[in-house]
Amino acid sequence: LAARLSNPDLLITAAPVAGRWITAAEADGTFDVTNPASGEVIATLPDLGVAEAKAAIEAAHEAQKPWAAKTGKERAQVLRRWFELMMANQDDLGAILTAEMGKPLAEATGEIAYGASFIEWFAEEAKRVYGDLIPGHQPDKRIMVMKQPVGVVASITPWNFPNAMIARKVAPALAVGCAFVSRPASETPLSALAMAKLAEEAGVPPGLFSVVTSSSASEIGQEFCSNPKVRKLTFTGSTNVGRILMKQSAEQIQKTSMELGGNAPFIVFDDADLDAAVEGAMVCKFRNNGQTCVCANRIYVQAGVYDAFTEKLTAAVEALKVGDGFGEGVQAGPLISEKAVKKVEEHIADATARGARVVTGGRPHELGGTFFQPTVLSGVTKEMQVATEETFGPVAPLFRFETVEDVIEQANDTIFGLASYFYARDMARVFRVAEALEYGIVGVNTGIISTEVAPFGGIKQSGQGREGSKYGVEDYLELKYVCIGGV
Ligand code: ADP
Repeated sequence: LAARLSNPDLLITAAPVAGRWITAAEADGTFDVTNPASGEVIATLPDLGVAEAKAAIEAAHEAQKPWAAKTGKERAQVLRRWFELMMANQDDLGAILTAEMGKPLAEATGEIAYGASFIEWFAEEAKRVYGDLIPGHQPDKRIMVMKQPVGVVASITPWNFPNAMIARKVAPALAVGCAFVSRPASETPLSALAMAKLAEEAGVPPGLFSVVTSSSASEIGQEFCSNPKVRKLTFTGSTNVGRILMKQSAEQIQKTSMELGGNAPFIVFDDADLDAAVEGAMVCKFRNNGQTCVCANRIYVQAGVYDAFTEKLTAAVEALKVGDGFGEGVQAGPLISEKAVKKVEEHIADATARGARVVTGGRPHELGGTFFQPTVLSGVTKEMQVATEETFGPVAPLFRFETVEDVIEQANDTIFGLASYFYARDMARVFRVAEALEYGIVGVNTGIISTEVAPFGGIKQSGQGREGSKYGVEDYLELKYVCIGGV
C-alpha cells in the first residue's frame, strides 16, 4: 500500500490520543487491519482500551474551552486548511480507503471529496452560529438566546464510509467549539488516522481530536457513555447497537445523535422514465456493493412496467465489473467480511425458499474470498427476510405492486425511516407520494441523495438528529436563554 502513495506518511500506524501519537510498540496489544480484497494485512495498530479513552476525554475536556473561546472565523480558518489538505491528498486518502475497505478506487476518492465537503461546509457555518433576541414578556425584561458548544463529543463510526462518517461528525463539532474523541471501526481505522494527521497539520490543537483505535468497541463505548466529561455521543451504525448506546447514555442523560439502519424502498411507478429508473436503481443499490444505510433494500415496481424494468435492470447488473477495488474499471469490490457474505446468502436462500426467483447472480463470485455475484431476485414478497431486514449487499429484490395506496402502505411498513426513493412523472403523484413516505429522506427521480448541503438523517428506528446542512450544527449546540431584567 505504501508504494501506491505519493505521501507514504499518511499510512499511519500510531493513534493520536490526548495530544500525542501512541505507537503499536507502546500499546499493551495490537490488532491487524486487512485488505478485504486479498486478506493481506496492511497495518498493525495499537489496540487501546479504557485507560486511553479516559486520557483522550480528559485532554479533550482541557482543549475544548480555549478552542470554544476562539472566534468562529479562527476556527473556520483551521477547518478550511484541513479541507484543503484533504483535497490535496485526495488520491492517497482514497487509496488507503480502498485498501482497508474494498470499495473501488473511484468511489473511494469520491468519498474523500464528499467527506472533505463537510469540513468545508462547516468551516463556513462556524461563523454563522446565530442566537436570538426575543421581545420580553414584561416591559423591563429582555430575552436573549445564545448557542453554545455542548463540550466534549464522543463518536463511534462504522466501516462502510471510513472517511465521510467521521467527517460529518467531527466537522460540525469542531466548527462550533466542541472537542472530539473518536473510535473508528476496527476494520477501517487507517482513514481516520490519516484524517487526524492532516487535522494536526491544519492547526487543530493537540488533544482536541483524538482517535482511539481499539478492537473492543463495547469497552470504549461504555467509557464514552459513562464518563461524565462526555456530554454528547454521536453514532453511526446499526439500530441494535444504537439502542444499546442510547440505553447506556441514558444513565447520565447525554445528548445523542443516531444515524442507524435503513430499509430503503425504491418505487418505480408506471409513468416513470424506465431508463432513468434503472440507472437510479443501479447507483442506489450497487454503490459500495450495497453496503450503505441508504441503499435501496426493497425495489417495488408497478405491474405494468415490472417485466420491462426487470429485464433492463438485469442487463445492467450483469454488466457490472466485480473485482479488486484497485482494478481498472471495477464497479463492485468485495464484501467487508465473511459475516456479510453469510447474511447475503441467508437472504437469498430465504427468498428462494419462499418462492422468489434468482434472475441473475445469487452465488459467491468466482474471484473467491468475500466477492459476491451482483444479484437480482424477482417475485419477492413481504413475508421474506429481505423485506424487513437490511441486506447490506449486492442483492436487488423486486416486488410487484398494483396501486399507489398499496405500495405506500408496504413502503412504510417497517420500523426504519431513513431513505426512500421513487420514480414518477405525474406532478401530483410526486407531491403526494413524497408527503406520504415516512422517511427522513426522499429521492424523487434520483438514486443519489447525499450532499453536505442537505440534512441527512432518519425517523422512526433509523435514528435522531441530522448531519450536514445548516441544521447539522444544531446537534452540537446547546441553547441558553438569558433573561435580563431591570432594563
Ligand atoms: P455494522 O454492521 O455497520 O458494523 P454496527 O452497529 O455493528 O454496524 O457497528 C457500528 C460501529 O459500532 C462499529 O464501529 C462497531 O465496532 C461499533 N460497535 C459495535 N457494538 C458496539 C457496542 N456494544 N458499543 C459500542 N460500539 C459498538
